[in-house]
Amino acid sequence: MSGLRVTPLERLDEPLLAAIRESLRQGFGIEVEPGKNLGEPGFAWDGERGQYNAPLILRYLLDLPAVDSAVDSAKVLAVTGVDLYIPMLSFVYGQAQLGGRVAVVSVARLKPEFYSLAPDGELLEVRARKEALHEVGHLFGLVHCPDPSCAMALSTGVRQLDRKQPSLCASCAALASEGRNAAGAGKRGDKR
Ligand SMILES: [Zn+2]
Ligand SMILES: [Zn+2]
Repeated sequence: MSGLRVTPLERLDEPLLAAIRESLRQGFGIEVEPGKNLGEPGFAWDGERGQYNAPLILRYLLDLPAVDSAVDSAKVLAVTGVDLYIPMLSFVYGQAQLGGRVAVVSVARLKPEFYSLAPDGELLEVRARKEALHEVGHLFGLVHCPDPSCAMALSTGVRQLDRKQPSLCASCAALASEGRNAAGAGKRGDKR
């Protein structure tokens, strides 16, 4: 059975990571295991932008040595608190290889405090679950969904993000289970 490792890229609250793992377990029907903290991704820091380069993080994750584990976690989702970008965009919530092995998601812009609002742990958690489902959906070959309430809908801001449910629509869920069976097949590319 295909599995996934959720690994923190710097220290994050364990309850938040546990909620993300549980969402992925339920959303994709896969085994999900916790990975060890890989630390702050200083190698991806861009001092001019004051942000971290997401494609460099994906490359780093691809180069990680295999870990002995009970779960066949060929796929890895890194979760970080640092703010991510890709060169053509001002920021990304996350990035994944379409149909590939590695993805990263950032909680930096999921925190209400980023927008000068009061901290809200529940809101942060539900947003993080949506974006984790979104990036892992890309790993299973899903592309963006036209249903604005589906976790696979593209969100370029918190308004769109908050309109989504922390779950896949029926059609994305069906495609994901096909993608699980055909993992590794099909076209690849990077998806945000
Ligand atoms: Zn959908
Ligand atoms: Zn996307």
